[in-house]
Amino acid sequence: MNEHYPFETPPLPYAYDALEPYISTETLQYHHDKHFTSYVENLNKVLASRPEYHAMSLEELLCNSEAFPEELRQSIFNYAGGVYNHAVYFASMTNEPTKPSQELTDAIEQAFGSIDACISQMKAAAMTVFGSGYAWLAANKDGSLTLITTRNQDTPLSLLFTPLLPVDVWEHAYYLQNQNRRDEYLAYFSDVINWDAVSRRYSAR
Ligand code: MN
Repeated sequence: MNEHYPFETPPLPYAYDALEPYISTETLQYHHDKHFTSYVENLNKVLASRPEYHAMSLEELLCNSEAFPEELRQSIFNYAGGVYNHAVYFASMTNEPTKPSQELTDAIEQAFGSIDACISQMKAAAMTVFGSGYAWLAANKDGSLTLITTRNQDTPLSLLFTPLLPVDVWEHAYYLQNQNRRDEYLAYFSDVINWDAVSRRYSAR
């Protein structure tokens, strides 16, 4: 992805059918090509007439909202959040077998007891998101781990956490395949986690 304006939708890092039968081809086509791309396009549209913001990275756009005029603040926050969250979400899945690094495994065991317990608590947290949002495995400043939920396209970055692993529980993430059965989508999601990517985000924090 470009570091700054004009942003582009990064290509899906696997084939559209790679996550079948857990995440369907049609779901990935709509979610990545339509929903993700619309956040990218809307963010570019809002920034187009504001060259003073064209050198800012997504992280800077998300963490400096007080720098923007009030009439732009919410749109930039929503669209930049949508771009950032979707980039992390799609990069956090794979059809390859992966496992957490030793460093991440230790932190997970310290916080939750085991990887299975972490995943099951993350699913439970994701079930509590009312309306649209995400559940996240995130790191505190001291490297300890926590689970948080965010609404709409809010991001853990703006809350001073390092985002490690999101699960998108907007209905657009699962409705085509699972309809109202968010629990079924969450069960499948944990089968396609890219632990290599999550471990890299943890070690780079
Ligand atoms: Mn989404």
